[in-house]
Amino acid sequence: MSGSENVHVIDHPLVQHKLSLMRSKDTSTSTFRHLLREISMLLAYEVCRDMPTTKVAIETPVAPMMAPMLDGKKIVVISILRAGNGILDGMLEILPSARVGHIGLYRDPKTLQAVEYFFKVPDNMTDRDVITVDPMLATGNSAAAAISRIKATNPKSLKFVCLLACPEGIRAFQATHPDVPIYTAAVDERLNEKSYIVPGLGDAGDRLFGTK
Ligand code: URA
Repeated sequence: MSGSENVHVIDHPLVQHKLSLMRSKDTSTSTFRHLLREISMLLAYEVCRDMPTTKVAIETPVAPMMAPMLDGKKIVVISILRAGNGILDGMLEILPSARVGHIGLYRDPKTLQAVEYFFKVPDNMTDRDVITVDPMLATGNSAAAAISRIKATNPKSLKFVCLLACPEGIRAFQATHPDVPIYTAAVDERLNEKSYIVPGLGDAGDRLFGTK
């Protein structure tokens, strides 16, 4: 893993290989979906690296022991709709006891501000470690708005996970949330005039759901 202040780039060869396959415009919807699921499991592995474990009494076939366990129910994966659901699915394979939240935002065409249309998260957020997921950190506006909304629930900890980021998105995100670590598989070159990441992978939601 490499990266600058509070940005963790997961540059593992397996992650990079799968990301390259996802980037190719010739990759089908079903393969894209499958790869996103796989890559999200690998991202979850890194994101959980510093999570606390507690010792639980178990018995192996040979002897009793105090064995380290994660408290999966304390983890909440919050998907920024709709493309976040692709990462959510993979993370739940690795963290099957995790709780799930959803946040939906759209961009008001007049003000260009993110407007919330859906928000549902578990109770007692103050006890929970939150992983917020969205594949593309592009302008950073919706991610920053989502994190502001989630912060208002006072979670115990908060991380943001994406597949691809760009310098513009990281700057915008960190201008509001310098305290929230970003995990990404790559930081691409730039944002284009249509707010697509370059070289990127196109529209993550459309590629995931086959809507174009
Ligand atoms: N959202 C996407 O799906 N792709 C981009 O390149 C930027 C934002």
